Amino acid sequence: MTAGEATPSRWHEAEIEKVVRATPRIVSVFLKAPIARHVAGQHLDVRLTAPDGYEAQRSYSIASAPGEARVELLIEKLDDGEVSPYFHEVARAGDTFDVRGPLGGHFIWRAQDGGPVLLVAGGSGIAPLMAIVRDWARERVKVPLLLAYSVRTWEELAFRDELIDLEARHPDFRFIVTTTRGPEHRIGDLHRRLNAASIREILTHWKQAARHVYVCGSNRFVEAVSAGLLDASLPASIIRTERYGGAD
Ligand SMILES: Cc1cc2nc3c(=O)[nH]c(=O)nc-3n(C[C@H](O)[C@H](O)[C@H](O)COP(=O)(O)OP(=O)(O)OC[C@H]3O[C@@H](n4cnc5c(N)ncnc54)[C@H](O)[C@@H]3O)c2cc1C
Repeated sequence: MTAGEATPSRWHEAEIEKVVRATPRIVSVFLKAPIARHVAGQHLDVRLTAPDGYEAQRSYSIASAPGEARVELLIEKLDDGEVSPYFHEVARAGDTFDVRGPLGGHFIWRAQDGGPVLLVAGGSGIAPLMAIVRDWARERVKVPLLLAYSVRTWEELAFRDELIDLEARHPDFRFIVTTTRGPEHRIGDLHRRLNAASIREILTHWKQAARHVYVCGSNRFVEAVSAGLLDASLPASIIRTERYGGAD
């Protein structure tokens, strides 16, 4: 930790630098947050305080790479939610709120952990996996990395241009989109839910034996993908999961 950075366990103030629409349902919130350098996969706790003193606290994964000057959070709007609509409807550059972190010691990847690495994201579950992809992209020697990213439609892909560009520049990076409602847009993408059969198909094309697997998304997504990975004969010991809550 360097001078000016806050202790991870203490609440401190973060200022919004900008809010940028990432997809129809997701915004990127860039923070000027004096946090300690994070490890890819970690999250921040966010605390909002109303004028009457009422507080609401939620966790948001860090999508930016470790060491970036600004911290990027990726927040999906839940229409009946208490906290996420604030970031879509109210939050503006210059607003402040409290954060604590970086937190989390299990769902993390460092370059020295090696690979091959399989990342499986559902919706906003791309956030911590994007930090891993971005961290990986800065390494000189690259282990094989495959990102399977499940969304309803092609329009709901966050970081689409960045991921397509990375795939074009790095032969060790594969990026497969699985859409559950819209048609596939590229050769190799799948219009299908992720289950044992589609996971097997993806792994057969990849031709790598994953050494680390990270799955992130809603409860139901993580349950379904974890079951599919085990069915596809991946050992439970290499699978790490992060659940965002919710039913779908
Ligand atoms: C470690 C961690 C990291 C997280 N990182 C992110 C992130 O990077 N981006 C992000 O958008 N969210 C993330 N979440 C989820 C986030 O913390 C909130 O739960 C989410 O934003 C909903 O909060 P809310 O106050 O808007 O909704 P709430 O008022 O808490 O809930 C409203 C309704 O939505 C349901 N619900 C809650 N979460 C979900 C969900 N994920 N999907 C569908 N329905 C849900 C609830 O059951 C409830 O019925 C993370 C959660 C954890 C534990």
